[in-house]
Amino acid sequence: MTTVSKEKKLQVIASDIKDNLVCPLKDAATNLVFGKGNPNASILFIGEAPGANEDKQGLPFVGAAGKNLNKLLNSINLTLDECYVANILKYRPPKNRPPQADEMERHVPYLLQQIDVIKPRVIVTLGNFSTKLVLAEFDISKMKNIVGISQLHGKIHEIKLGKESYQVIPLYHPAACIYNPKLRQTLLDDFQIINRFLSR
Ligand code: URA
Repeated sequence: MTTVSKEKKLQVIASDIKDNLVCPLKDAATNLVFGKGNPNASILFIGEAPGANEDKQGLPFVGAAGKNLNKLLNSINLTLDECYVANILKYRPPKNRPPQADEMERHVPYLLQQIDVIKPRVIVTLGNFSTKLVLAEFDISKMKNIVGISQLHGKIHEIKLGKESYQVIPLYHPAACIYNPKLRQTLLDDFQIINRFLSR
């Protein structure tokens, strides 16, 4: 029996998005922003949606938020080689507006497939949207029942997806400290929690 690598399985999902996803965001975007990093990673970061730089390059977290994410990874000696990074939405929303429910509905099946292939030891959600979606176990109608990131960040939560359970650590979005410099220290402290979790 031949085993298909995780990398190959991710490529199949990306092709499925290009060929079959029907979403107005796709028509307006330059590139698919599927994900980056190591498909065998034990840590999966989930952000919200691509911005202008990500749309141009076809890669998540390459703009200002990405620079902050890299600094935070460096603070616990992690490199992209040990992580995988993806977003809820695979195409940029106009003017970086927040994802809409119907857009999430269309994109979530692909994110669930990415998770099922990678099977990370921990999912780290970046920002309010991704935290609510993941802690609602991807049921968009239940996102409104999840409290805000200020009460959830830096703590370990557990979700169930089918037969699998996953540990989830919500964090403030790495872009948040661009607007609120006080959050930089909170993010640094929360990254230490990831570090402690990974060394368990
Ligand atoms: N913000 C996100 O949530 N994702 C990106 O890829 C870039 C910025």
